[in-house]
Amino acid sequence: MQWLLDLDGVVWTLDTPIGGSVEAITRLQELGHQVRFVTNNSSLSRTQYIDKLARFGVVANHEQILTSAMAAATLVKEGERVLAIGERGLIEELENVGADLVVPKRLEDAEGLDTVVLGWYRQFGYADMSNACVAIRSGARFLATNADPSYPLERLVVPGTGALVAAVVTATGAQPIFAGKPEDPMVQLVRPLLTDETIMVGDRLSTDGRFAARLGVEFGLVHSGVREEHDPDIPVSLQAGSLAAIVAMKVG
Ligand SMILES: [Mg+2]
Repeated sequence: MQWLLDLDGVVWTLDTPIGGSVEAITRLQELGHQVRFVTNNSSLSRTQYIDKLARFGVVANHEQILTSAMAAATLVKEGERVLAIGERGLIEELENVGADLVVPKRLEDAEGLDTVVLGWYRQFGYADMSNACVAIRSGARFLATNADPSYPLERLVVPGTGALVAAVVTATGAQPIFAGKPEDPMVQLVRPLLTDETIMVGDRLSTDGRFAARLGVEFGLVHSGVREEHDPDIPVSLQAGSLAAIVAMKVG
């Protein structure tokens, strides 16, 4: 069968692998299962994700990595003048589709741009907010990689892209189009890859759970990342403490 795995809170928390996950993924691959990684985290490029997985002992290729930055890039056309606020993963995917990435030196440079794309950006500051504000108020489209409000570290929780989006929404009154799970652009990206038996495993009901429901696949909820209130509208097929436990339940 095919496994669609969220990364943050399922495979790792930032730079620490979650107990048993690496072994579980390796086992699935040895048993001939197809494993793909579907993440709303736009910070790393596909190559960087492959390298990070390799550091932890997981072998993956470009076709196995699906990020919210890729989903956002499907909404951008070649030659579009784009203000990209994000890390390498977002910049690379926008470059891949031929976007003209504009780096404003003065506020006026942000005026009249076609599109603002906002992703997780750990250097996010007032200048970024101001540029986005000027661009959007002068007519730019507003795209965001994802709405995740927070990012789980091992013990603590820090702001996610949704928190940065909220700042720009407050400043402009504009609502973004979201690209990542559970929204349409990511659904369109993943749907052609589905096989008869596919399961999505994630730690967040509002993104991973809704995404699985929209794809019409099983959802395995793990408690190794963020903890969200139970939502009776989001079906959960299986739940367990970790990916390793879900894999054990499915393949023994
Ligand atoms: Mg997660």
